[in-house]
Amino acid sequence: MSLYCDVALPVPLDRAFTYELGELEAEVGARVMVPFSGQLLQGVVVGLHDVAPAADVEVKRVQRVMDDAALLSAELMELGKWIAQYYCAPLGEVLRGMMPLTAEVRRQWVYRIAEAGRRVLYEGAAKGSSRRSKLSVEDQNREYAALNYLENGEPAKAATIRSATGANKALLDAMARKKWLVREPLAEARDARRLEKVAELVNSEQLTANSEGEQAKRLPKLNENQLAVMAELAGCGGRELVRELRVRLERRGVPPSTLGTLVKRGLVLLEETAQAFHVSGLGAQERGGSKKFSHEHALNEAQTEALATIVAAMREKQIPFGNDKKKSSSTGFSALLLYGITGSGKTAVYIAAMQRALAAGKSALLLVPEIGLTPGTAAQMVAAFGGEVALLHSQLTQDERAEQWHRIRRGEARVVIGTRSAVFAPMPDLGLILVDEEHDGSYKQEESPRYHGRDVAVMRAKLLGCTIVLGSATPSLESWNNAERGRYARVEMLERVEQRPLPTVEMIDMREEFRQTGKEQLFSRQLIAETQATLDRGEQVLILLNRRGYSFVVMCRSCGEKLECENCAISLTYHKPGNESELNGEARVGQRLECHYCGFRRNVPSKCPKCESEHLYYLGAGSQQGEERLQEIFPGARIGRMDRDTVRTRGDMERLLSRLHSGEINLLVGTQMIAKGHDIHGVTLVGVVGADFALGLPDFRAAERVFQLITQVSGRAGRGELPGRVLVQTYQPDHYVNTFAQKHDYTGFAARELYFRRAMRYPPYTVLANVLVQGESLEEVLGWASRLGRWITDRRLEGVRVLGPAPAPRSRLKRIYRYHLVLKSDRRDTLGRALREMLAWVDREEIPRRAVIVDVDPMHLM
Ligand code: ADP
Ligand code: ZN
Ligand code: ZN
Repeated sequence: MSLYCDVALPVPLDRAFTYELGELEAEVGARVMVPFSGQLLQGVVVGLHDVAPAADVEVKRVQRVMDDAALLSAELMELGKWIAQYYCAPLGEVLRGMMPLTAEVRRQWVYRIAEAGRRVLYEGAAKGSSRRSKLSVEDQNREYAALNYLENGEPAKAATIRSATGANKALLDAMARKKWLVREPLAEARDARRLEKVAELVNSEQLTANSEGEQAKRLPKLNENQLAVMAELAGCGGRELVRELRVRLERRGVPPSTLGTLVKRGLVLLEETAQAFHVSGLGAQERGGSKKFSHEHALNEAQTEALATIVAAMREKQIPFGNDKKKSSSTGFSALLLYGITGSGKTAVYIAAMQRALAAGKSALLLVPEIGLTPGTAAQMVAAFGGEVALLHSQLTQDERAEQWHRIRRGEARVVIGTRSAVFAPMPDLGLILVDEEHDGSYKQEESPRYHGRDVAVMRAKLLGCTIVLGSATPSLESWNNAERGRYARVEMLERVEQRPLPTVEMIDMREEFRQTGKEQLFSRQLIAETQATLDRGEQVLILLNRRGYSFVVMCRSCGEKLECENCAISLTYHKPGNESELNGEARVGQRLECHYCGFRRNVPSKCPKCESEHLYYLGAGSQQGEERLQEIFPGARIGRMDRDTVRTRGDMERLLSRLHSGEINLLVGTQMIAKGHDIHGVTLVGVVGADFALGLPDFRAAERVFQLITQVSGRAGRGELPGRVLVQTYQPDHYVNTFAQKHDYTGFAARELYFRRAMRYPPYTVLANVLVQGESLEEVLGWASRLGRWITDRRLEGVRVLGPAPAPRSRLKRIYRYHLVLKSDRRDTLGRALREMLAWVDREEIPRRAVIVDVDPMHLM
C-alpha cells in the first residue's frame, strides 16, 4: 500500500500533483477525485510512492477512488505520456481526452465475477474452506455464495446479490478489491445496441403512389401540421428515425405532438429497431437498388496484391505490449502507405484486411475523417461485420460514448470505426489499425492536446507492435516522404476497379473567358454548355464552390471598408434568406451577415458602418449564390446543395446522398463536402469553381490542399459505367498544382512540392511549432509576445530558428488577440527541448499558461 499518489489533472500545467491516499487504495491508471484550488477535479493516478513532499508543501487527500482497477491499460497510459511529451501538452488533459467523460459517480454499480474469483470458487470448492482468511465463517460462506451466484458471468446489482446470497455491499467491494469481482457502473453492462424508435407510414406505398385527389379522399380531416408530417415521412421513403423526424419537424415549426396524433389515428406506426443496425447510408444504398457493397465484389488483382502485403505484415510476430521493450524491428510493427487512386476500391481492401485480423483473433480499428460526411463507409462496415462494430463519432451523447467505450474494452466490439479520438479506443488484442483518407486535416485536433490522430495511430501501432495502414489517393507529403525514405512500405493501386478510366480533366482559363465575354462570370460558357449536355443525357453533375453562403465579402465602394465580425478579424459572409426548396436547412432563417468562424450574426446594414455611404457591394460567390445562378441557367434541373447550411446532421447527409443515388437530384452544388469519398455512379461531370483562390493563402500547405481538393473532387466523376469529365475554372492554368492535377500525377506533384519544401525548410524536412500568444487585451498580448521574443533572442536556442513574433494572419478570433512565433528545427528532440524550456520560462515569468499555446506539427500557421 502506498502512502501517496501522483495525479495528472486536466489543468494547463505540465506536471502531476501529489496527494495523500490515507486509507484509500488506488492503481496507476485509475481515476480519482481530488481537491484542486477550491474545487474537486477528476484526475488519473500516474504514480504511487511513499515519498513525502517537502515539509512546506501542504499535501491534500484523495477524496475518492473511482476505479478499483486501472481504467487505462498500460499501453494507453504509455501512449498518453508520449502525446504529452511530443505535443508539449499537460498529461492530465491528454488522459482526460482518452477516457469517456461521464458523471459515473452517481451511478449504480454492478458486480461481475473475475478470473481470480473463478479460481477461488473452483479451487475452494475442491479443497473445502481451508483458505486463510480474517473473515468470519459466515462471511466466507457469503463470499462463496456470491461467487456462485455470479458464476454464469452475468453482472448483477449489489441489492440483487444481497437478497440472493446475503453478501452486503461492503463485502462485495472487498471482494472487488481482492480482484475476485469486477465492479462496473451499471451503464457499462447495458446493451450498447440500444433500441431506437422508427416512424413508418401505414401503407406507405399507396400513400406515396396515389394521386393527390385520392389521398385527400382517403385522409379527409388532416390539418396542415399533420399533412406536413405525412409529407416528411413520404419524402424519405415512408420510414424515418423518430429522432431525425423530430429535428426536421421542428424546423418546419410542427409541434412534436402531431406525430403522436397520427399514431393514434393509425396513419403512422412506431416501431423499435436496434440502433447499431440503422446506420447512416444503409437505407439510402438499399433504396438505390442495384448498387453492391465493396465486400460483395471479388477483389481484383491490385486489391488482392494490396491485401496480401497487409496480411504478410500482420503475420510478423506481434509481441504483446510490455513483454518486450526492444525496438520496432523485432516487435512486428509495420506501417504501410496504401496509395490508391480515387475509385481503386480501397474500402474493399480495408474490409478484407479487417476480416483477416478478426480471423487471427485480433481486433481492428478504422479511423475515418468524419463519419457524418461519408455515411456509406460506416454502412458498408456494418453490412460486413454486423454486431461486432462499434461506431465512435462526435454525435454520440456522453452516455452513449461511455457505453461504447466499455463495450469495446470488454472485447465485445472487435471492429471499431471512428473519428480522431477513436484512436484511443480501449481495444484488447488490437492487431490492425487503418487510417482512411490519411491526408485529411480533420485528424488534427485544434485544441489542447493538439495531437494528430494519424500520427498518434502510428505511435500506437509502434507501441503495440502491430500493423498500420494509411490509405489515400492524395497522401500527405509527410507520409509520402516516409514512404520514399523506406519508413513505410508503399502499396499502390493505380487503376480504378473494372478498368474504368480516370476522368479527363480540362482547365478553363478564366482570364481568357473574361477577355472574350467582357464580363466577370461565375460559370464559364463551356461549363454551362457541358452541364446542359450532361443533364440532357440523363447523367449527373457536381459543381464545387468551396465557400458557403451567398457572398463572402461585403465591401464599401466609397471608403473600401470590409465588413468584419465584431469578434474576429474575418470578413462577414452574406447569406440570403433561405428559399423554400431548402427544407433541410435555412427555411426559417432570414438574410444576415454571418461570421463563419465564431457564428456571430448581424442584420444587413443599408449603409456603410464607417462612412455611411449607401454603396455596399457583395463580392465572392458562395454555394448559395451558385445554387441560385444554376437555377436561373438550368430551370429544368433538379438542383441540390451540400454545405454546412443544408447539412447539419448525419440524417441530412443521408437524405441528400439518397436523393443523389436515386437520381432525384441531377445537379449538386456544394463546398468541399462534395469531394469526400462519395461513390455516386451517375456523376459524369464535375465542375471546379474558384478553388485556386486558396493558392494565395499565406500557408505553406496551400498548394498541397488545393491539389488534394481538385484530385478528390475529380475522383467523384466517372465511378459508374460511363467515363467522367472534369472542368476546372482557374485564373492560373499553368500553376503546377493545376498541371499535375490535370494529368492525375500525384507522384509528380509530390516530387515538385517536396523539392520546394526542402528548399524553403518546411515540413517534412524540418519540424515546426507554432507558438501563439493570445489574450483579450491587445496590450497584454503585445507585452507577452515581445518578452517571449526577447527571451528567445537572448537565449540563442541552438539549432532552432525563430520567426516572429508577429501578428497571426488571423490576428483576432472570438475577441482574442493573436500573435505568433514560428519555431523551426532540423531535429525534433532539439525543438522539443526548446519548447519545454520556453514553457518553463513562461511559468517562472508568471505569464498565464493559457496565453501561450504550443502547436507542434501545425496544420496551418493562420
Ligand atoms: P476508393 O475509396 O478507392 O475511391 P471505393 O472503395 O469507394 O473506392 O470503391 C469504388 C467502387 O468500386 C465502389 O462502388 C465499390 O463497390 C466498387 N468495387 C470495389 N471493389 C470492386 C471490385 N473488385 N470489382 C468491382 N467493383 C468494385
Ligand atoms: Zn464606407
Ligand atoms: Zn467571428
